[in-house]
Amino acid sequence: MKVLEERIRQEGLILSDTVLKVDSFLNHQVDTELALQIGREFQTIFGDQPITKVLTVEASGIQFAMAAGIALGVPFIYAKKKKAVTLSEAVYSAPVHSFTRQEDYLISISQKYLGPDDKVLIVDDFLATGAALVGLCDIVEESGAQLMGVGCVIEKSFQEGRSLLEQRGIPVHALARIASMSPGEVHFIDNTGT
Ligand code: 5GP
Repeated sequence: MKVLEERIRQEGLILSDTVLKVDSFLNHQVDTELALQIGREFQTIFGDQPITKVLTVEASGIQFAMAAGIALGVPFIYAKKKKAVTLSEAVYSAPVHSFTRQEDYLISISQKYLGPDDKVLIVDDFLATGAALVGLCDIVEESGAQLMGVGCVIEKSFQEGRSLLEQRGIPVHALARIASMSPGEVHFIDNTGT
């Protein structure tokens, strides 16, 4: 997605060879028109499949899952980190190791909102180590729903996330694929046509 690559080039802050900050337009302050465009792009990629729910993890995947849900005309669910007291009903849960925070946490979703009749698209902001997305895939599997694919806004292709998901036979699409980066420099893998 050329417009996204351009924004990353202009506004992305590359803190190290592995960490990219996109706080000014994607995951702290959010450019709402760009978020909706991202949702429509996921609809273009996955819209030929009978998706019934979009799934993400709080917090920074929410705006993109919502945009994809709007474009696909289906609800989105965000997995909660830690079990909230308000989530008193039965839940599906999975442990996740956070790359950015270097800590382990549990993600949960209520069993009321996902089941064997669902066809799920998982959406997230970043695909890095894949830990968060593997946790979500485990939850989908546990629920008996069918996982149709994973859509990520930014993939850091030099980290192992994509291969972990592809090993499980999951179709993965990322709107901007970073081959390598270092402060002041970013190289994308050609995502022809987007
Ligand atoms: P994972 O390593 O599980 O693929 O990434 C989990 C989460 O960490 C992503 O959804 C994203 O919120 C955050 N993350 C991973 N790498 C980066 C990065 O380079 N920059 C930012 N801003 N967040 C990241």
